[in-house]
Amino acid sequence: MRHTIVAGNWKMHKTYQETHKLLDELIEKLPTGKEVEVIVAPAFTNLGSAVAHLDGTNIQVAAQNMHQAEGGAFTGEVSAQMLKSVNVETVIIGHSERRHYFHETDAILADKVNTALRHDMRVIFCIGEELKDRENKQFLNVIFNQLTDGLFHLTKEQWANIVIAYEPVWAIGTGMTATPEQVQEMHAFIRREIERKYDLNVANSTSILYGGSVKPSNAQELFANPDVDGGLIGGAALIADDFAAIVNAAE
Ligand code: 13P
Repeated sequence: MRHTIVAGNWKMHKTYQETHKLLDELIEKLPTGKEVEVIVAPAFTNLGSAVAHLDGTNIQVAAQNMHQAEGGAFTGEVSAQMLKSVNVETVIIGHSERRHYFHETDAILADKVNTALRHDMRVIFCIGEELKDRENKQFLNVIFNQLTDGLFHLTKEQWANIVIAYEPVWAIGTGMTATPEQVQEMHAFIRREIERKYDLNVANSTSILYGGSVKPSNAQELFANPDVDGGLIGGAALIADDFAAIVNAAE
């Protein structure tokens, strides 16, 4: 169901102790009673304890990645079943850092999505163009291909567990936020393509988040766009006051 979500992707930051300190600060500072789903995605080592720590709060926990196989000889990897066993129900798949540094292709990502859905997990699927794609005016094509190759094999019913995060690579960690007009244009395009592939109901039921240098000072104008359903936050999610302000800026 389409609704507003603000998720913090903590990336490779925060030890066990730092994780729990930040969680305590978030419990204290995050607004309550807002119609916003709040999610945090700490490192694998801290997922189980974060779930336990947040029990009874309305903050959810997501993983930043998972492996596509059910299990086996994949040294260093984590499976969907392992995530579920510590009550993690949501997983971020396809982050541009995974695509870039870990060479995760659209085919691998489609596999990961299938595995996550098979385990009744919800997927936050990241897509985004590079600066050269924007400069060459190929950005809509790039996004269309990422949607097609990563998600358009799914059935209508499976889309109930898909959230999209549009994260232009040039805006991630650079301080170079996309303008509200660029974001709205892309989110409307994504929604239109989902409608063309499926139907209006699927398009209007899918939450589409924006990510890339979201901060307290720009969150409100980004989130105010009709096709923006919240954000996926990196750097600012590591500072409790900033993350709380961004949650407050969401409807
Ligand atoms: P920043 O908010 O640090 O730009 O990171 C965005 C991001 O990659 C969230 O997944």
